[in-house]
Amino acid sequence: MRAMVLDRPKQPLELRDVPQPTPGRGQLLVRVNTCAVCRTDLHVVDGELADPKLPLILGHQIVGRIEEVGEFREASQHSDTRAIQAAPAFSVGDRVGIPWLGWTDGDCAYCRSGRENLCDNARFTGYTIDGGYAEFAVADARYCFPLPERYDDVEAAPLLCAGLIGYRSYRKTGDARRLGIYGFGNAAHLIAQIAIYEEREVFAFTRPGDKATQQAAKELGAVWSGGSDQMPPVKLDAAIIFASVGPLVPAALHALAKGGIVVCGGIHMTDIPAFHYVDLWEERRITSVANLTRRDGEEFFEIAPRVPVRTDTQTFALEQANTALDLFRAGKLKDTAVLVINGN
Ligand SMILES: [Zn+2]
Ligand SMILES: [Zn+2]
Repeated sequence: MRAMVLDRPKQPLELRDVPQPTPGRGQLLVRVNTCAVCRTDLHVVDGELADPKLPLILGHQIVGRIEEVGEFREASQHSDTRAIQAAPAFSVGDRVGIPWLGWTDGDCAYCRSGRENLCDNARFTGYTIDGGYAEFAVADARYCFPLPERYDDVEAAPLLCAGLIGYRSYRKTGDARRLGIYGFGNAAHLIAQIAIYEEREVFAFTRPGDKATQQAAKELGAVWSGGSDQMPPVKLDAAIIFASVGPLVPAALHALAKGGIVVCGGIHMTDIPAFHYVDLWEERRITSVANLTRRDGEEFFEIAPRVPVRTDTQTFALEQANTALDLFRAGKLKDTAVLVINGN
């Protein structure tokens, strides 16, 4: 099969013919229709995340159809029967979404306490296991999602990470009424739609001077938009930071009301500068969001079509993956890049 392969960080991906993967027990062989490009892919290519599988096929927002189900019955004899029974019953031909969380042990203290996103032995699609910048991918059926009908393969792809991990970040803000979002990219765009649907007031912070994005945020329904160097007109109950820019943490903290929370939604961030304790005082909190649980996915795919969350995409062919990554790095993508691999 054709695949875009990363041999080493800080090198372009290479288009190569590689053996088609074979599904093991409990795994699905999926013919990849589309795969959206995530900022995490850039962090892997740029060597900002430790110990990726190498050589690696990137991509963890995969939409495709099941080509083969690997010995599913045998899998139910495995010790992890509870999780297997909870797996959706997939058949050949079904459409599935494959997300970032690819496997957990089901057995560590985190898995046992409903925090599989923190599993000690978790494996991640397109990072520690091969992903979707290829014609086929295999995935553990238990971590795949059925996708809402209303989205076609291109529209659905960005929901699988920007949507899911964005949603987990959003839920960490509890019932915050005034919600700041720093870094108004893919995840912000999706999550703002849910926040507005749930009658929160969204305050959008962009790169200073990025009037086009500020205008787009207003059109989406934000009550205020401005540069990340500005203070909002009122104190915020919560702020989510999707940009990988450490100095935004004290900036967001400074904009919070008492008891407010700053949620860092990215997997990588530059260093956070020192700040005054008075900005943390009065029970303000800072937290990060790591990965996703299957429950986040179930909740997100239940609410997304009701809003309905819209995705704006820009499509590329598989062999144009480097172009998509370069445009992303340069901040020149207006919409979410989606690789279209097996037609649509
Ligand atoms: Zn675990
Ligand atoms: Zn991602």
